[in-house]
Amino acid sequence: MAGRHRVTLIPGDGIGPEVSAGARLVLDAASPGIEWIERQAGSVALAEHGDLLPEETLDAIREARVAIKGPITTPVGSGFRSINVALRQGLDLFAAVRPARSLPGVPTRHGDVDLVVIRENTEDLYQGVEFAARSPQAEALREELRRLADFEIRPDAGVTLKPISIAGTRRVVRFAFEYSKANRRGTITLGHKAGIMPTSDGLFLRTAREDSIDRGDVEFEDMQIDHLTARLVREPGRFDVLLLPNLYGDIISDLCAGLVGGLGLIPGANIGWEYAVFEPVHGSAPDIAGKGVANPIAMILSGAMMLRHLGEPGGASAVEHAVDAVLEAGKVRTPDIGGSSSTMDVAEAIASALAR
Ligand code: NAD
Repeated sequence: MAGRHRVTLIPGDGIGPEVSAGARLVLDAASPGIEWIERQAGSVALAEHGDLLPEETLDAIREARVAIKGPITTPVGSGFRSINVALRQGLDLFAAVRPARSLPGVPTRHGDVDLVVIRENTEDLYQGVEFAARSPQAEALREELRRLADFEIRPDAGVTLKPISIAGTRRVVRFAFEYSKANRRGTITLGHKAGIMPTSDGLFLRTAREDSIDRGDVEFEDMQIDHLTARLVREPGRFDVLLLPNLYGDIISDLCAGLVGGLGLIPGANIGWEYAVFEPVHGSAPDIAGKGVANPIAMILSGAMMLRHLGEPGGASAVEHAVDAVLEAGKVRTPDIGGSSSTMDVAEAIASALAR
């Protein structure tokens, strides 16, 4: 029986509003008890509120504790940080969860993929410790490094720092084990480059190995990130849960999307102790925005993850089965996976498959 839930909906920009409308249609059909609180972020928010991430949007998420969002464009080289990164850090959403599984009716090289990427979401090269080339701060940093470590950085170098902390690692490791136990996952594979970066990646690895938490029956192994990448493209069916620092997690989740048919199919969740924000892995896809052909499945499956989080596993499974049924039938699909249907055609087909 569907309960009542307050959920903040952030449609985003680019294809965001299109896939959000599709997801809302399906989620309303699967769980009629959702009360949507719509708030803006990104270019729409800038136009309406003069702020890319208005406080009222953050407040709405804090109040509802659960949000679902479409993608938001980050203008390249404009000097401001990604709103997505700001949102994850502002709400301390320290774990990104991105399941990738082979879907019926979507032909790919490997048919046996069923893995979950768990990505640390707040540290690493994405923490925003940036020193622009030739800035006074970069100059001061160069001097300090010379003094501390006799290390010479070129004067025209921009620098991004990679902090990885024990506390930040412990919580995502704990989360990965809790998730694996709850979802009957057998093995966690941690990816790293500890040989080259012993103080950051090495710390991530050592902390995960040594942390005394209840691991249940979950096996743990580690792999160099380059080796892991090669294994993933050759035999993805061998992997179960991948635990990765922020940057590797970003890259590997897109790789996993490619393994199962593309970005239009991969859902995601950003989870902290207090709040959860569900969103597809894909971005705002400016190349197809406004055409009504974006695949809504990634957003719809993000909604299924949200229903499970809200304590509605039945609704979540129903949405996932309806997506599988529509993909398997093969009649209604968007151009990215070889069809010619629109975003709303796909959403409507999934909503009607729910009822069957
Ligand atoms: P993208 O994911 O937007 O697009 C990459 C390719 O995949 C494009 O060819 C696009 O058409 C296709 N694609 C993506 N989603 C699709 C869908 N649902 N259906 C069909 N095709 C789809 O990546 P990008 O082009 O590198 O990024 C565009 C913008 O999105 C950038 O500003 C980036 O910063 C932002 N971005 C936002 C998020 C987020 O909000 N969480 C995530 C990633 C990128």
